This record gives sequence, C-alpha cells and structure tokens, in this order.
Amino acid sequence: MSVLELRSVSKVHGRGAAEVQALRDVSLTVAAGEMVAVMGPSGSGKSSLLTIAGTLEEPTSGVVLVNGEDTLRMSPGAKSRIRRRAIGYVFQDFNLLPGLTAAENVSLPLELDGTSMRKAHLAALKALEELGLADRARHFPDQMSGGERQRVAIARAVVGERTLLLADEPSGALDSVNGESVMRLIHSYCKRGVAAVVVTHDAQLASWADRIVFLRDGRFVDQTAAPAGPESLLEQSS
Ligand code: ADP
Ligand code: MG
Repeated sequence: MSVLELRSVSKVHGRGAAEVQALRDVSLTVAAGEMVAVMGPSGSGKSSLLTIAGTLEEPTSGVVLVNGEDTLRMSPGAKSRIRRRAIGYVFQDFNLLPGLTAAENVSLPLELDGTSMRKAHLAALKALEELGLADRARHFPDQMSGGERQRVAIARAVVGERTLLLADEPSGALDSVNGESVMRLIHSYCKRGVAAVVVTHDAQLASWADRIVFLRDGRFVDQTAAPAGPESLLEQSS
C-alpha cells in the first residue's frame, strides 16, 4: 500500500479575475521507503502540492489518500489525528519554537498526541542522539547553527514513527554542506520506511531521491527514475 496517493489533483486558488490554477490534474504515488524530489520554477505549484498532500488544504478536485485512507472523506477529528500521527512537515525556515530547547521541540508533537512527558522526552533524546545532536538537547534554537536547527526540525517531523515526511525546500536556507546533510538524513529515514516528498531547487540535492518529478505551470512535465546527472536536471528545471 502506498503512503501517499494523489489522483488527478487540481487546485484553483482565489476566485473570478484573481483565480490562479496552481495544480492541474496531478497524480503521484509514493510508497513506504521511497524518497521523491519535486523540482520546478517558482510558482509552478510545488508548495501547493505539499500542503494538499499534508491535508492542510483541500484540492479543488481529485483524491488524496494517506496510508490508504481518503482524507477528503474523513471527519475533522480523524483528519487532525492523521496530521498528528502520520504526517511530518519540514520548512525552509525550520519553524522551531524559540522558547523551547531542541529536546522540547522534538518531544512536543508526541506530548500533543498524548504521550507522557517522560516518554516523549526519552524519545526526543534518542532521536537527537541518532542525529549526532545529543549535546545540543538542552540548547535553544538561537544557540544552534542553521544546519543543526534543520536536523532538529527533521527529527521533530519523524518522531513517533510518522510515515510521511513533507519537506518544502528544507535546504533553502543552508549552505551546500548542510543542505547535503539534510538530504542524506531524509534519505536515511526513507531507508527505514518513511515516505518523503522533498521540494528542492538544487539538482545535485535532488539526486538523493529515488525519483524526481518536475512541475511546470501546475502540471507534471517529466519524471526520471534514475537521476541522469546534475547538468541535465538543471536544464529541465530552469
Ligand atoms: P511554488 O511553491 O512552486 O513556488 P505555489 O504552490 O506556492 O508554487 O504557487 C503556485 C501558484 O499558486 C502561484 O501562482 C501562486 O501565486 C498561487 N498561490 C499559491 N497559494 C495561493 C493562495 N493561498 N492564494 C492565491 N494564490 C496562491
Ligand atoms: Mg513554494
């Protein structure tokens, strides 16, 4: 069973003269363990694709299945449960809570979902340790580098065995070394069974994915199964 399935998804933002069609008949299936990179120019619909996949927005038409369940037919309660338990988000600007330590940021989603503070804290420490950030557990976001903050944000997105990781330009604010380590980290979670959709502008970073899809004007224009090398990808995405 696929973790994410989008069937003929279209999205129109706004109304009347202000109408913008962000996605046109887009279909995408992502299996457990699979890492898909999404590339495309600015305004091509990449963020719309992720917010719809994450059930934060509904498509104008089409079907969105997460772990085989039709999210458009779910009750609000079931939908917020799937958001809390199955889906993790990573953003370009990290979005860590500044008043919480690294460990508290990672344990928060578990606590919100009813895990005891103690268990959540232990799970957070374990996640940080795996990322080589054990000594940063008590640090606040402004005491960490950008690369460290993004690794904490990724730990927060997957903690509690969530199955779908959605990352919108997670390396956008990082230098190439840290960008590379963010992609390597997402890749390693996929090897453990997480399904990931990662938006990136960088063909080199996209080549970490099992598959690359290209969006242009809200449509998929091409897919590559095996990355053909950074130069050819750059041509297609520009
Ligand atoms: P990308 O992430 O590839 O830059 P987006 O999905 O953010 O693309 O946007 C796709 C198109 O939809 C753009 O033309 C954008 O201006 C428009 N758009 C995105 N979100 C909204 C919104 N909430 N209201 C109106 N238009 C939007
Ligand atoms: Mg975007």
